[in-house]
Amino acid sequence: MFRGISLANKCLLLFGGAVVLIVVAALAFPALRMWRLIDEAEIQRSRDLVDVWIELDDQHRRERPDSTGQPLFPALQVPALSDQRHAGINAERISVEQARRMRASDVFIAAALDAFEAEPRVTDHHAQRWQGITRLYDYARVERSAPSRITGLVVLRRQSLETFRLLWVGGIFFAAAAAAVLSLAVLVFYLITHRIILQPVRALKDTAERVREGNVAVRSDISTGDEFEELARTFNMMLTDLQSNQDRLRALNQAMDVKLHEMAESNTLLHESARLKGEFLANVSHELRTPLNSIIGFAELLLEQAKSEAGQEDVSPAIQRRVRYLSNIDTAGRNLLAHINSLLEMARIEAGRIDIQPERVVLRDACEGLLGLIHPLAARRGIDTRLEVQDDVPAVVTDIKKFQQIIFNFLSNAVKFSLPQERSGRVPEIVLRVDKLPPARPEEQMKVRVSVIDNGPGIPEEEQQRIFDKFYQVDAGHTRESTGTGLGLAICRELAHVLNCEIQLVSGVNRGSMFSLIMPLSLAASHAAEAALEARLRGTLSGGRPWSGDRE
Ligand code: ADP
Repeated sequence: MFRGISLANKCLLLFGGAVVLIVVAALAFPALRMWRLIDEAEIQRSRDLVDVWIELDDQHRRERPDSTGQPLFPALQVPALSDQRHAGINAERISVEQARRMRASDVFIAAALDAFEAEPRVTDHHAQRWQGITRLYDYARVERSAPSRITGLVVLRRQSLETFRLLWVGGIFFAAAAAAVLSLAVLVFYLITHRIILQPVRALKDTAERVREGNVAVRSDISTGDEFEELARTFNMMLTDLQSNQDRLRALNQAMDVKLHEMAESNTLLHESARLKGEFLANVSHELRTPLNSIIGFAELLLEQAKSEAGQEDVSPAIQRRVRYLSNIDTAGRNLLAHINSLLEMARIEAGRIDIQPERVVLRDACEGLLGLIHPLAARRGIDTRLEVQDDVPAVVTDIKKFQQIIFNFLSNAVKFSLPQERSGRVPEIVLRVDKLPPARPEEQMKVRVSVIDNGPGIPEEEQQRIFDKFYQVDAGHTRESTGTGLGLAICRELAHVLNCEIQLVSGVNRGSMFSLIMPLSLAASHAAEAALEARLRGTLSGGRPWSGDRE
């Protein structure tokens, strides 16, 4: 309400308002009293007039006993009654019967009669009211033959302008007095606030403004000997602290500048080495894959040859050894190729080179294909495989290659980590299950879950989060025996993110594991673009660089 008004004006307004209220309240009582006194004087005048009137009327009756008792007015020419200030005057003597007849039509006569009849000692009755600026005074005097016997009334009705004039003049005096008191009070208040309050406040404000302009060496020198001086002293102490803090900060800033420079340098080095690492990885992986493929190819040829020789009768132990060695070379070569492929895939993801091509996928067909791929490997290790697809699972729109990559990874892990029957005491089994996930809340959409369930060694709870980290492998005897890079699940997690899917893991030690991919029915094109962009950004931040296609 008082926003934008200076402190001085605010104080002045509030104080002025308060003074007006106090003066009005203080003058209201004398004004009312003055009005009352004027009315009392006028009533007394009516009384005096009626005294004179009765005397004259009685004299008139004595001199003219034959008169019918008609009222004398306006024959009253006495000075008291011919007063100029009285706009109108009327007096009459009425009998009690007349008065009673008038009771119904004349409120004043009725009230006067009531008062006289109720109390024998009451001799007169009056009433007054305003009519515009004229004050009407009604006065009645009772005439009794005995205390309780009323014989008649003398009624005087007057109009007076005097009351209004007196009140008006009085009002002007009161207003003048109020204005004088108000101006004087405001003047005194103004001088006090300016000298005692505003001057030191302004001095403090000036100092604060100079500090804001950057001059922290400035000090306030108020010496009023009161709270303002204390405030100025505290303000000065604050400035001293500020100055020393600023000096300290400046020194710290300088030290930080040096550190920042050093960090920028090491950051550049880090960035460069991350770039070199990415480049090295890409080059090495690529350069390794080409010769490795020919090693594997030639090893396979030699193995086939050796196997056909081993199939003949009288096979020498040397040939048998050769088959074994060659098959070891083949397996090791394939493992190495798988590792290199994983490294290459991760490097590709980190470089943001993810290309998403959504298409309609019938999950039963896709899963049958995947299970067909893994089946020979599983069968070789004595693992049963089974496909369970819920009847009404809808088709989904997703990138089939990435979906296959994720599920195949789950399947090959399940095969890799399943324990043979002789160790676990149960037939190793892998189930690939596809089912619908109805929405948990009405605003959510339906999803589809593709799970790979095995009855292998399981994963301890404390490891379940970490196995999705890059290069992390559970350090437990049963899984450590299997070879791997620790990149498979990290790649799955990245790909799932790109496909707007979620990976869930339920597992218990010695009870098996269930890796599930929870997918939306449709992969929105906008999400695919966002995910690719995010992957690219992350790749850039981690020092990766988009690789050219011929490097894959
Ligand atoms: P890798 O298979 O190359 O070791 P992954 O990222 O695929 O790397 O897996 C990380 C680790 O998670 C594995 O080393 C293994 O300890 C554990 N793991 C993954 N799948 C299974 C599973 N089905 N059963 C038991 N352990 C598993």
